Amino acid sequence: MITSHMNGYVHEASVHAKSHNERAVDCPGEQSSLVKSPHCVAHMERIQHYQEELRKKREEDSRGKHDIDPNASLRLKKLSQNPKLGIDNPTFEGKENTTKDTSSQDHVTVEELLQAMKWVQQCLTDSQSQQDVELIMQLLAKQDFRNAYSIYTAVSQQMSRVSPTSPLTAQAQDLCREVQKILQSNQQKEGLELKALLTNPHLQALMQVHDSVAGQEMAEENVTQYLGETVKLVRLEKARDTPLGATVRNDVDSVVVSRVVKGGAAERSGLLSEGDEILEINGISIRGKHINEVHDLLQQMHGTLTFLLIPSSQIKPAPHRHTVMHVRAYFDYDPSDDPFVPCRELGLSFQKGDILHVISQDDPNWWQAYRDGDEDNQPLAGLIPGKSFQQQRESLKKTITDKSREPQVKHWYAKKSKKQRKKSTSNFSKNTDYDDILTYEEMSLYHQPANRKRPVALIGPTNCGHDELRRRLLSIEPEMFAVAVPHTTRNPRIHERNGREYHFVSRSAFETDLTAGKFIESGEYEKNLYGTSTDSVRHIVNSGRICLLCLHTRSLRVLRSSNLKPYVIFIAPPSQERLRTLLATESKTPKPEELKEIIEKAREMERNFGHFFDATIVNMDPEQAFHELRRLIDKLDTEPQWVPTSWLC
Ligand code: 5GP
Repeated sequence: MITSHMNGYVHEASVHAKSHNERAVDCPGEQSSLVKSPHCVAHMERIQHYQEELRKKREEDSRGKHDIDPNASLRLKKLSQNPKLGIDNPTFEGKENTTKDTSSQDHVTVEELLQAMKWVQQCLTDSQSQQDVELIMQLLAKQDFRNAYSIYTAVSQQMSRVSPTSPLTAQAQDLCREVQKILQSNQQKEGLELKALLTNPHLQALMQVHDSVAGQEMAEENVTQYLGETVKLVRLEKARDTPLGATVRNDVDSVVVSRVVKGGAAERSGLLSEGDEILEINGISIRGKHINEVHDLLQQMHGTLTFLLIPSSQIKPAPHRHTVMHVRAYFDYDPSDDPFVPCRELGLSFQKGDILHVISQDDPNWWQAYRDGDEDNQPLAGLIPGKSFQQQRESLKKTITDKSREPQVKHWYAKKSKKQRKKSTSNFSKNTDYDDILTYEEMSLYHQPANRKRPVALIGPTNCGHDELRRRLLSIEPEMFAVAVPHTTRNPRIHERNGREYHFVSRSAFETDLTAGKFIESGEYEKNLYGTSTDSVRHIVNSGRICLLCLHTRSLRVLRSSNLKPYVIFIAPPSQERLRTLLATESKTPKPEELKEIIEKAREMERNFGHFFDATIVNMDPEQAFHELRRLIDKLDTEPQWVPTSWLC
């Protein structure tokens, strides 16, 4: 049996306890117990042990508490069909009375306060304190204070009352009219005031809206009493191949709705809530069933499904902002490889660089998202790890990997000096600073203005053709494209002019600018320094032309933080054989190991920097590659592109 906490998963210890404890009620998928590595098996054993302990404890706690007979569906049907029950009967009375009782117990009366003060006064010996208490007692006896206190008590009782999960009536307007009729001949002050209130057009409009909303809800759900518990009947339409979009978990012998996923029938209906216990589905008793059985059962059901639920007693937290957050993923994710995803069938796989639309962060550990482009053909959102949850996992993984790499030393030798211990503490605190662990970056759509074109950076290993592509663009359309004028510390040659071929600067001036981070890239050639400054690129951007850059991957970080909003295209090599043929046309005859090295270099670049690439062109054929490059550059004018939101602030 699987048990779990209702709250979110608060890492490490509880991470282990939370893995796969939910099941999509009806999504197709593998068995949730599928775990691959021996490491995970150990985890699962620990989890099972933990769960067994928890189950025993829960059983002890709840022994005697459950008085619902799960096999009482016939009786229940009769109850729900009885027109006297359900919507016409205010069914929350029991609950409200209980609340009222407890809350009135919480509120001390003024008499009780006075009594307590008298008792305190008797215990005090010094006259000053006795005088103070006397003053308080005088205050308590005042009518104004008593009035204020009774208002406070009434308000706080009202506030502490659990708000009903369903409307009590859909006839508020009728009730108002009835009250008005009764008040017709009433001339008392309160009666006149109430009459004025009830005939106020704003209040009448509010009642009208209330009744229409309540009417809709009550048409779909019946609230009734069932052996002392408030239960509700909910009807949902389930299409044959469309999942409901909810997950369930076992809580001792109960089956509880654990998560409602955006875009599914459950969420659209608004009738199933997290924490609701499912007693029956279409008359079939659910309590005592394993979540896998519930899943199998629901997978076969379609059409109108009638759920009998014990509504969650939790007051629904205010939903998080429903604005969608767009992110670019900086890691690959495969839910089938993640033993901690609460429901594997609902996990969303993605790759480094993918744009994801995060539509819910209600559970900070497991966001709900769509992959860019999937929204239309994939109605149901998928689960992805939340940002800080993923950062913590990555950090933990890193710590474990680092530890396993440390040489095993005997304890006496491993004992550290005070100084060393201090050092290791500061290392740890560095580990808990997750900001350097890249997970997701928030993105926004950006459409470049006609007079400020984004610089285009071509990246790739040498001999993959990015230099040739740049040269071709420059020669065909010199009025549209330009390169930034570089800086150098060498002396100008006879035909060279400062600011045209190069910006000629002294070594010390170059080094000062380099230290100040003014260069996107730089290098040394025959004892002279060369480099491209952000200012040179900006100069081209301001002139309305597209600045073309051929860069090394290490320049990407500086370029991205320069507010130049670069568009980065990776020029990848084709197969080894094709690359050899292409280079032969340029009279180059690289050795097989050199070709292999180019391809390996490209793979490494993609592995380490792929998430920074906006597009990739595989250079199979120079002509095709050129056209693809032109198409991508034209698209910057016609379509908005995703850029880090931080670029737009
Ligand atoms: P030259 O001094 O003959 O003009 O160029 C010498 C070398 O410096 C060439 O290999 C050229 O590619 C390189 N170079 C020119 N501009 C830059 C630059 O902006 N950055 C870097 N890293 N090298 C450059």
